[in-house]
Amino acid sequence: METQVYHLLLIAMLILAPLTALVLLRVDAPYGRQSRSGWGRLISNRWGWFLMESPSALFLAPVAWLSGVQLGGIFLIALWEVHYVHRALIFPWRLHESRTVPLSIVASAVFFNLINVYLNGRALGSLGPGYPLAWLATPQFIVGAILFVAGLAINLDSDNRLLALKRAGQGYVVPRGGLFRWVSSPNYLGEMIEWTGWAIATWNLAGLTFAIWTIANLAPRARSHHAWYRKKFVDYPKHRRALLPFIY
Ligand code: NDP
Repeated sequence: METQVYHLLLIAMLILAPLTALVLLRVDAPYGRQSRSGWGRLISNRWGWFLMESPSALFLAPVAWLSGVQLGGIFLIALWEVHYVHRALIFPWRLHESRTVPLSIVASAVFFNLINVYLNGRALGSLGPGYPLAWLATPQFIVGAILFVAGLAINLDSDNRLLALKRAGQGYVVPRGGLFRWVSSPNYLGEMIEWTGWAIATWNLAGLTFAIWTIANLAPRARSHHAWYRKKFVDYPKHRRALLPFIY
């Protein structure tokens, strides 16, 4: 029975991802520079990020453990935790304290993250292909883990550059250096590479679904950020693309 529910949930998530992308191409998620009124009660940005991301940091390991994760799966959990411990416990406190985020956005992110943790945690255990220690020598794990780490490095470097600009207190300015040389949202590009790496390293449908959702969430926002930069800064670098160097 649970296996059927699990697979139905996976299929529903796979169908919902492109629909979400279509909605986000028309309606920007109302936080950061796209903040606007009419989205209900607001809470502090820092606490919002902490609440949104904590379920992913807290619950993947217990769900996978209860599902009978094997030794190789523990290395996959470690990759996940490197990302989420930073995102839930460190990143929020580096943000500017003046910003707020609608509670409705926080609640929907918590809901998504709980489903995502369930799908990925169960897939690391008895509902996935199985991850013995020998999994770590497969081409999927090696390629996926390299991509994950590369994506994480790009994401962290790009977020660090943005947070430094924010701290400088000059308002929004044109970011420079790192992958900003080529694209407007390298932090999003890095995040997408990370979860594509995760999908390859886990080689299961839950990982693929998460990677597709990450792209569905962030590609429309990268497009919107790019249009915003070009409108706001007349001298915005002409060759800089939205998300993919030289391509898009
Ligand atoms: P943004 O790039 O919009 O903003 C990141 C921070 O930098 C914010 O504090 C922002 O301030 C500041 N900032 C951005 N651009 C400038 C600029 N030009 N000048 C000065 N300050 C600037 O990222 P998000 O807030 O959307 O995302 C943060 C992280 O979360 C990213 O790493 C992203 O990949 C990840 N994320 C992942 C998602 C997923 O689905 N997996 C979904 C959403 C985010 P301000 O808030 O005032 O704009």
